[in-house]
Amino acid sequence: MTTKQEWIEKDLKYVWHPDTQMKQYEGSDFKPTLIERGEGIYLYDLDGNKYIDGVSSWWVNTLGHSNPELNKILTQQAQKIEHVLLADFTHIPAIELAERLIKLAGEPFSKVFYSDDGSTAVEVALKMAYQYWYQKGKPEKKYFVSMTDSYHGDTLGSVSVGGIDIYKKIFNPLVFETLKVCAPYCYRCPKNKQCTDCAIDCIKEVEELFEQKHGEIAAMIVEPLVQGAAGMRMYPAEYLTKLRALCDKYDILLIDDEVAMAFGRTGKYFAFEHAGIKPDIFCVAKGITAGYIPLAATITTDKIYNAFYDDFSALKTFYHGHSFTGNPVACAVAVENLKILERDNIIESLQPKIKKLEHCLEKFKELKHVGDVRQTGMIGAVEMVKNKAAKEPYDFAERTGHKVFKEALKNGAILRPIGNVIYFMPPLIINEQEIENLTKIAYNAIKTVTEMN
Ligand SMILES: *Cc1c(COP(=O)(O)O)cnc(C)c1O
Repeated sequence: MTTKQEWIEKDLKYVWHPDTQMKQYEGSDFKPTLIERGEGIYLYDLDGNKYIDGVSSWWVNTLGHSNPELNKILTQQAQKIEHVLLADFTHIPAIELAERLIKLAGEPFSKVFYSDDGSTAVEVALKMAYQYWYQKGKPEKKYFVSMTDSYHGDTLGSVSVGGIDIYKKIFNPLVFETLKVCAPYCYRCPKNKQCTDCAIDCIKEVEELFEQKHGEIAAMIVEPLVQGAAGMRMYPAEYLTKLRALCDKYDILLIDDEVAMAFGRTGKYFAFEHAGIKPDIFCVAKGITAGYIPLAATITTDKIYNAFYDDFSALKTFYHGHSFTGNPVACAVAVENLKILERDNIIESLQPKIKKLEHCLEKFKELKHVGDVRQTGMIGAVEMVKNKAAKEPYDFAERTGHKVFKEALKNGAILRPIGNVIYFMPPLIINEQEIENLTKIAYNAIKTVTEMN
């Protein structure tokens, strides 16, 4: 029998892990944790140790791991048809899911374009927006506006609209040119305001840019309410409301990248609901299958769709499709996910959990090296700083966040951080006691790492 140690050796021999400097494992006790199974919010390693999945396995899981109902649908669908192409063919799971998504999103949404993951959903949105303007006779509208420190995926198109150096800088010679506006990062407000006197002044920069360049701008793409990969930076919904108005005024499309936020994370199905707006195009992935298997969708309106709808010879077809577009197993799981969310009132049931998280986060403010504590719905984040008064960050190379992660892991919680930001994004089915357990482990880990020396 292969022992755990042998599996890990083979892992390090053959597997190149994502976002990971593989050399860190050389000569270190710290190795990848080998997970054997999952149940609910817990993951179990090969030795049977149990961990709370505090980050929903990279923001995907919502209804718990190895969920019996989702497992059942997955196997049933695989026995009927595991995959079939979606051009000139269709299947009931793809149809049923599209209908449900459109009904959930409400007017004016009318069409669902499937792809495989968040990055591809964003690629689809960008190409759709550009081709829309092209077919409207405005090919000069070719620029996309996005925020500094934005994240929209790891493929080159999505990296182009991204703004985080570690993902982008090396590839700058390869990506297409985009326009950037300052992100509304409230803890380090670009306008030096406090939340109490904030009048969303940072939106003025957007208006100036739109005013100058709207003739060449196709769309603005945003992460709604939370810039996830930037470190769970959060901003008020009012920003989105104002942005929608500006996009209307200057005839610019609004692309809402809901890949991380949709299906409950913010306390609603879609984050745009908090702002009382509707984007022109929005992207969903991650939670669409409850985090089970890859699937994504780019959802839009007849306004966009009609610009593509013409005789074949007019050459307005949207020539974009992935091998696994609308995979039946993935769509069947997604339909079941939406049925469970509705049947069990999952979104409504989040309110007391959100309150509980708020209460548990309060305690972190007293920690000497916690500069900011923030929350949007079921997401909580704690930003650690070297010096609280000066908001001085820990040096990148110190890996303070990673040290906290390792400490918490020993105590049964998975909190894979972003730089100096420790965050909680647990599966939605977590209960109040478990929120307390998770945050307690994090609190102790931060205290141990930042106050020990
Ligand atoms: C995760 C994420 C993506 C990329 O999704 P993948 O499935 O990893 O390709 C895009 N946009 C946002 C906002 C994300 O959080």
